[in-house]
Amino acid sequence: MPYGFSFDLTKMSKSFFKELARVAREKNVHRRIGERARSLAEKFRIHELTGLNVSDAITLVEDLVDIHARNLSERKKFLETKRRVLFLPHCARKYMDKRCQAHFDPNGPSYHCNQCSPDCLVNQATELGKTRGYDVYVLAGGSCVPQILKNHSYKGIVGVACSQELKMGGEHIANSELRGQSVPLAKNGCTNTWFSIENLKRTL
Ligand code: SF4
Repeated sequence: MPYGFSFDLTKMSKSFFKELARVAREKNVHRRIGERARSLAEKFRIHELTGLNVSDAITLVEDLVDIHARNLSERKKFLETKRRVLFLPHCARKYMDKRCQAHFDPNGPSYHCNQCSPDCLVNQATELGKTRGYDVYVLAGGSCVPQILKNHSYKGIVGVACSQELKMGGEHIANSELRGQSVPLAKNGCTNTWFSIENLKRTL
């Protein structure tokens, strides 16, 4: 969990995410977005609804805007890629203890879901990714990514992770031939994190 704070945006209204996407589209045109992100955080009272302090709430919104904007600018090139990989966070598993039947393969490195629970996000996202032709990795941490990319010739990456990790990952691949899309967690933490499977469907 790279952020020094936890957040939960799962109760935010749809209008917040719509406005977030609109501000991200404007970023592609205007490039100066800090002020807009700040007013968005204030308008939707992110700090009150999440319990974050004002500064962390603004950071979170700025990062989300940044990710949306990068997704938009990379989308066309990403869709042209042929060999793609999907990275999922292990913290979105329904269970983080021995009830999870996933097998960890250190050579991947990846967890391999054994589908013990139909309502597990990682189970659903893994199936979705495979159906769409992706190689899927359920990662114990972002530090596994360079090793996987080194061992495979992927051209397109979809990452599900916390927004700060995604922002850093996007900057890392910006000057490479890889094309990425990101699905940010709406709830971070070490366990029971959450992302929108609908958002993932639209992204893949
Ligand atoms: S569905 Fe898969 S990832 Fe989820 S708890 Fe079960 S084995 Fe683990």
